[in-house]
Amino acid sequence: CRPDAAGLRQWEETRGAANYAPLPVVLASGEGCWLRDVNGARYLDLMSAYSAVSFGHAQPRLVATLSAQAARLAVTSRAYSNDRLPLFLKRLTDITGYARALPVNTGLEAVETAIKAARKWGHKVKGIADGRAEIIACHGNFHGRSTTIVGFSSEAQYRDGFGPFAPGFRLIPYGDAAALDAAITPHTAAFLVEPIQGEGGIIIPPDGYLAACADICRRHDVLLIADEVQTGLGRTGYLLASEHDGVRADGVILGKALGGGLLPVSAFLADERVMQVFTPGDHGSTFGGNALSAAVAAEALELLGDLRLVEHSAELGRRLLARLAAIAAGTPLIRAVRGRGLFAGIEVDAALTDARALAEALLKRGVLTKDTHGTVLRIAPPLTISAEELDWGLDRIAEVFADAGK
Ligand code: PMP
Repeated sequence: CRPDAAGLRQWEETRGAANYAPLPVVLASGEGCWLRDVNGARYLDLMSAYSAVSFGHAQPRLVATLSAQAARLAVTSRAYSNDRLPLFLKRLTDITGYARALPVNTGLEAVETAIKAARKWGHKVKGIADGRAEIIACHGNFHGRSTTIVGFSSEAQYRDGFGPFAPGFRLIPYGDAAALDAAITPHTAAFLVEPIQGEGGIIIPPDGYLAACADICRRHDVLLIADEVQTGLGRTGYLLASEHDGVRADGVILGKALGGGLLPVSAFLADERVMQVFTPGDHGSTFGGNALSAAVAAEALELLGDLRLVEHSAELGRRLLARLAAIAAGTPLIRAVRGRGLFAGIEVDAALTDARALAEALLKRGVLTKDTHGTVLRIAPPLTISAEELDWGLDRIAEVFADAGK
């Protein structure tokens, strides 16, 4: 006999560490943009696991690649090469235009890789004394949960009790290029920035911000590193969100969607002038670039082009923003809607409503979303979503705001 959702949740609550507060649903299967819970109820996925499921659930080509590769060869460690890695690296560097890629697994690992690359570049190339290289990041950032990374978070919840933290990071306001110019010192090796802050609440900086930062970095010989873990691979209607500002960062961090929604796959991308700082034995990971991940990620990169998902994201993104603006115009509960491509946030008026309660109301209507900090409801569906599916979800969102406003 199969336990029901409440039974399974209770089991999770009593046996799991209490480090998450999931919405009250237990999911059991998925196909495309739709998920089913353990009771068979259907939900439209407007979250796509924080952009990790850009290709939809159980995408047939990715599942076929995964299972064929799993039966053939999965993990060898990087003590040896495998025959799937070259194609993955070729596609990843071809599509992004960077000379080299260093594959790891989760987003935070790729961020750590970028930090190490920047520090070593600062020392070896820029001549900063070893151990003195400094990295500038932004208030409201989210780059992962390692102790080094939470050490420069501005969110008390991510930091409290987890210190001591690594030195060498400084925070400046997001969206303010003059603040970057003022903060750079001779010890600055890199500026680490999200082209749009995702976890921060879908915060879009002013047009031209990233371009101005790129100029400042160039002038001071500081690396511009774009964390595109959430915004990359078509999410914002561009292959990389940095392209919106015409910027080619010195280093790019990708993750989430890179694994096709099936595996954790991430990478740090840069040209030779940065990547040459790594020498054999410096840095690595048992699973980084494993044959299974490489096969799936290579297929995912091909699928991105075959399905024209970047273009689709830009096109449907316009529809999404227009409809969200219309919903916002009809209710005092919404303070602002922000978005680019299929990456949007609805900021609610915290005095009038609560985004978590709205996410729960949407769940009851068969739509999965997620709140950020209780004030922003995020909308980031699989990039494969159709206009009809998106409209269906937006109709439910309109209903929930109409109900909440009563
Ligand atoms: N960078 C950004 C911009 C992210 O949004 C995230 C995850 N939300 C990460 C890094 C960390 O990725 P992971 O959870 O895979 O470590």
